[in-house]
Amino acid sequence: MTAANPLLALDYLPALESLGDDYYDVVSAAEFPQHRLRFRNDDLVRRLGLDPAAVSDGDFIEAFGKFQGREPFLALRYHGYQFGEYNPFLGDGRGFLYGQVRGIDGTLYDFGTKGSGTTPYSRGGDGRLTLKGGVREVLAAEALHALGVNTSRAFSLVETGEALWRGDEPSPTRSSVLVRFSQSHIRFGTFERLEYHNRPDLIAKLLEHVIDVYYPEARLFTDAQERYLHFYGELCDRVARLAAQWMSVGFCHGVLNTDNMSITGESFDYGPYAFMDGYDPRFTAAYFDYAGRYSYGNQPLICQMNLKALQKPLKLIMPEAELETALEPFKDRYETYYRQRMLQKLGFEQLDADLATALVNQTIDLLSAVQVGYHDFFFALTEQFSPRWREQAGDIFSTTLQASDSAAAAQLEPWRQIYHRCLQSLKAEQMEQVAALLKGTNPQTVLLRPEIEAVWEPITTEDNWQPFYDLLDKIQHPFGQIGQT
Ligand code: AMP
Ligand code: MG
Repeated sequence: MTAANPLLALDYLPALESLGDDYYDVVSAAEFPQHRLRFRNDDLVRRLGLDPAAVSDGDFIEAFGKFQGREPFLALRYHGYQFGEYNPFLGDGRGFLYGQVRGIDGTLYDFGTKGSGTTPYSRGGDGRLTLKGGVREVLAAEALHALGVNTSRAFSLVETGEALWRGDEPSPTRSSVLVRFSQSHIRFGTFERLEYHNRPDLIAKLLEHVIDVYYPEARLFTDAQERYLHFYGELCDRVARLAAQWMSVGFCHGVLNTDNMSITGESFDYGPYAFMDGYDPRFTAAYFDYAGRYSYGNQPLICQMNLKALQKPLKLIMPEAELETALEPFKDRYETYYRQRMLQKLGFEQLDADLATALVNQTIDLLSAVQVGYHDFFFALTEQFSPRWREQAGDIFSTTLQASDSAAAAQLEPWRQIYHRCLQSLKAEQMEQVAALLKGTNPQTVLLRPEIEAVWEPITTEDNWQPFYDLLDKIQHPFGQIGQT
């Protein structure tokens, strides 16, 4: 049975394991009373070169519910700044690195668990993941991926039949184990821990590994200092791009501690996240984020601060001044990436730079001033857009204008003028491209909190999973296309 399981027969590579046990502890998985496969990601199965039809639900359960047929499992060691305070007691407390495999795209991927039992880092916690937490992470990752955010995905979710007690869910609540599929689970906090123990040797060794696997182009630099600097500059750029992706899709991660920042610049770990409804920079996702530290609008700044925090460990092996210089362009890079993504949401691939900046700024001003949902606005733009808008400014959002009050109409007027100028800067025959870009950028269904609660309700009351699968299907095809993931 084991030998026939295609998930177990994958070519697992000991990339991280071969670095030695300074970076992890070998752990085992908990035994669960039940195993019900609630989600399997066939898109990712294909990415591993497997035919989904050849992988049974039983194969998933054997590998990613019972955790049979493979070892060792590695609980990674890390620290991190949590809400600004250094915490040296972190580490994989309810998960481990299950294994590493290469996709058919050539990328090395990590299978990492969440909710697989206690480890030396559980700190009195139960090592478990609630079913609702698992469902929420599956949804977040699939939604973000479909919206073009560089994110980890969920590979599988198995319900495990235990009763859990949590302060933030009606309890007892159901349990699950999630297998996450990501580029890497090496975090900023993995390096911070090594600085805490004053181990520049281990920092350099880990960094060379990170460069080899995730920044291979840096190998062109034979000089180690140049290589490290290339890595850090590229990481800053990737994080700026990620922040712009979150911001443009209206996503608030919620817990941007340095242990939740991937060294590859990929988004991961979806706990109390939320997509915002109305545009609001102060919107917070985590109920325990009293000061709004990780609010929607703070995310770019927090990312920059986390990159700054990473300088502390890197400083042990390279000059601080160069790190600082490499971080300097962050804000400009972020703004450029953000403007580009927002322009696309407005239907433009390219505009004159000043016009582009003015349009994006005025759009944000409008969204701040009027009572309209962030996603509703862009979806209405997509639905109502007409090539006539280029000829007649008065036609722009004319139906919306009639329907809304005069204060909103007054707010809309200057926006309408600039949108008209932008359209006029294009040729008439380009209006089709505008319409297509609007359609291909602005989702029909957004994973707002009420959407999640609406699918959780039937699961919890009558074990009806259909609404969850229906929502999953919609968020996996946010622009209406079918059968494409
Ligand atoms: P997170 O908020 O998921 O990023 O986790 C922060 C830290 O708390 C990590 O070290 C986790 O492994 C740990 N942790 C979170 N929940 C649990 C739990 N239920 N049992 C043990 N450790 C946990
Ligand atoms: Mg975490």
